[in-house]
Amino acid sequence: MRGLGDLGTRGLTPGERRRKRPLVAQAFRPALGRRSSPEGLRYRNVAVAVLAAFSGLHLLAQTPAAPDWKALEPEMMQQFQAILRFDTRNPPGNEHLVADYLKGVFDKAGIPAQIFALDANRSNVVARLKGNGRKRPILIMGHSDVVTVDEAKWKFPPFGAVRDGGWVYARGTVDDKDNLTAGLMTMLFLKRFNVPLDRDVIFLSEAGEEGASNFGIGFMVNQHYPEIESEYCLAEGGGAIRIGGVAKYTTVETLEKIPRGIELVAHGISGHGSIPLKSNAIVHLAGAVARVGQWRPEIRFNETTGTYFRGLAQIAAPEVAQHYRDVLATDPKVRQAADDWLFENEPLHSSMLRTSVSPNIFAGGYRSNVIPSEAKATLDVRALPDEDPARFLEQVKKIVNDPAVDVHFTAQNVRPASAFDARLDSEPYKVLEAAAKRIYDTVTLPTMSTGATDMAQLRARGVQCFGIGAAIDMEDGPKGFGMHSDQERLLESELYRFVRYNYEVVSDLARAR
Ligand SMILES: [Zn+2]
Repeated sequence: MRGLGDLGTRGLTPGERRRKRPLVAQAFRPALGRRSSPEGLRYRNVAVAVLAAFSGLHLLAQTPAAPDWKALEPEMMQQFQAILRFDTRNPPGNEHLVADYLKGVFDKAGIPAQIFALDANRSNVVARLKGNGRKRPILIMGHSDVVTVDEAKWKFPPFGAVRDGGWVYARGTVDDKDNLTAGLMTMLFLKRFNVPLDRDVIFLSEAGEEGASNFGIGFMVNQHYPEIESEYCLAEGGGAIRIGGVAKYTTVETLEKIPRGIELVAHGISGHGSIPLKSNAIVHLAGAVARVGQWRPEIRFNETTGTYFRGLAQIAAPEVAQHYRDVLATDPKVRQAADDWLFENEPLHSSMLRTSVSPNIFAGGYRSNVIPSEAKATLDVRALPDEDPARFLEQVKKIVNDPAVDVHFTAQNVRPASAFDARLDSEPYKVLEAAAKRIYDTVTLPTMSTGATDMAQLRARGVQCFGIGAAIDMEDGPKGFGMHSDQERLLESELYRFVRYNYEVVSDLARAR
């Protein structure tokens, strides 16, 4: 077993060694391209043989020039800052600012792009690089809206994209303008370096991900699906995790929970507050909420979460790793103890084990001397992808165990259930694993998000979606710099690494062979 300390980047990484390849390849490019003439072919064969002898590379002819990443850094930063400086806080969104900007960049680069909007201020952009059609398209997407900000709490202006001490500060740096920028750069570089493609590469900048997906992915899937129809999709939801400044593992979101709401409504007899009643709706509701709140539904693993916990056990500190192993155990007592520990210490991991329930709204009564006839609570339910909603509702009713309390699903905006999970034995997953090894020198762990993303709508259409992102520091969230925090930031160096990861993954999956 490798200890955490062994996972650092040492010396020349395989990725850095690989970067030297194109310099040699480019020197022979004119000759390699002359495939029709016998002289050209002969020269090509000689060239390949010579190069193979010197460099040990045998697939040179199929390997397109890799970008000079160092030289491209200023351009990546300039695009990242330009996108961050548009105030697209949602509500109201104003994603057309980013959409119009991106359309301009694509136009200038000669990449066909089109705006799609349900509301003129909330537009989406689709750009497409054509392949030869041998394979079905791949979609790379990012959302252009960000959550709102409390400006007074920001050291740097939230839409200033200020660079300070190696970081870039702005709302959206890690959610999700990192993905948006990386997708844009991938498109620009694929075009610039004339990478021949076996499949179309489609870019989507989507509006309204933060709670208004009817303007973005909902609109695109329902009304313009042929524009984005793909075999695979890359979106937000993963990324390398750094601890102490070193990447320890890279996550890829392959699955997500399905949000649902359950309402508990207690009915009783109304009356004068001076005469307490046994049927008091608030008392009945309080009991029901307490019972549900203390209930932890059964643990159930799927391929993603099983692989995730087993993988984490391999790289975590020994005392923590034991809890990950124990929660996978068959002995119910061992499992229970680990589950208790996770619930107290790592609530995210506890939620990944089960369909979760959190009572988040409690409402009833309107004046102190009136016993109300009704009281209501709303439970936030995050269902495992394979959960049977009707069966689960029956379980909640049993836990509530009070005929005075009605239990039903709310009509809240639910995301569709995923019909197709991203497979761990698929080509994209293997390519993502290899890229993380090469670029971050880490293993890849598949994750199931406890939240929901715009991938849900695509998975429901049969697209295999993978959530990726820039590397973040494990310590940065608790310090208040994570996504949705009162400050948000990304390391400049991690923007560059992520663009490269994004580009190499997409080009590995789409390049003509
Ligand atoms: Zn997001």
